[in-house]
Amino acid sequence: MEKYRGRIAPTPTGFLHLGHAKTFALAARRCREAAGTLVLRIEDIDVVRCKKEFATAAMEDLRALGIAWDEGPDCGGDFAPYVQSQNTEYFLQIWARLRDGGFIYPCRRSRKDVAAAPRAPHDNDDNAEPIFPAEWRPAEKDFGKNFAEPGDWNWRFRVPDGERISFRDELCGEQSFVAGRDFGDFVVWRRDGIPAYELAVVADDIRMKITEVVRGRDLLKSTARQILLYRALAATIPKWAHAPLVLDAVGRRLAKRDDALSVRAILAAGGKIEI
Ligand code: GLU
Repeated sequence: MEKYRGRIAPTPTGFLHLGHAKTFALAARRCREAAGTLVLRIEDIDVVRCKKEFATAAMEDLRALGIAWDEGPDCGGDFAPYVQSQNTEYFLQIWARLRDGGFIYPCRRSRKDVAAAPRAPHDNDDNAEPIFPAEWRPAEKDFGKNFAEPGDWNWRFRVPDGERISFRDELCGEQSFVAGRDFGDFVVWRRDGIPAYELAVVADDIRMKITEVVRGRDLLKSTARQILLYRALAATIPKWAHAPLVLDAVGRRLAKRDDALSVRAILAAGGKIEI
């Protein structure tokens, strides 16, 4: 049997909240139960929004919660985390592989353009997101191969319209999304020169040989997109375990703006966090 490898992957745009604490604790527990190895990855690829102080704070909070990770260079008795922003060269290699395979193409359309595009009638359920209209993609599949570098373009993944992407989630059961209906051509490289979340996360999970991805349920649909990337890169697809989201008193999903529910605010006020 392949050895279990898990990861916790905070994005340092704010302090960790109760939802992160629960998800990361679950990731640590599942890893421990499988006698596996847990990696800490700081997802700071968006250098404008991310701050080093929050990465440091996330590590302090994890320690305060008793969540330990098992890999990385020695940094004074602890393991240094893997830091995404230090590895853009690797992401560029992945971009080039996708380009060479004809999976992605450069695009000038912004998120705003996509939001303003006419919506299909089935798009009015809660989970609907604006879909990139298929007629906006270049007709020629190999169009991207004319480009030696990403340049100042958004690069999008051409999704297989109408194909149902199904997977079994270890916590939520069978899941399925239809490409071109539930999500459209998505950005893998941003025009400001950095990889988009979907590319960075898949590239790193492949490189780190992650066997099970534990994260919040808000990313279930992203998993369908990511499966397409695994396929394009001919990589082994990990198991998935999407944890329940923590809601605030009025039923909204917690966000980093909810400072009162941050791990450190709760602990500083003498509160206990059941994880
Ligand atoms: N960095 C992401 C977040 O903080 C998690 C991504 C993932 O686990 O795939 O929401």
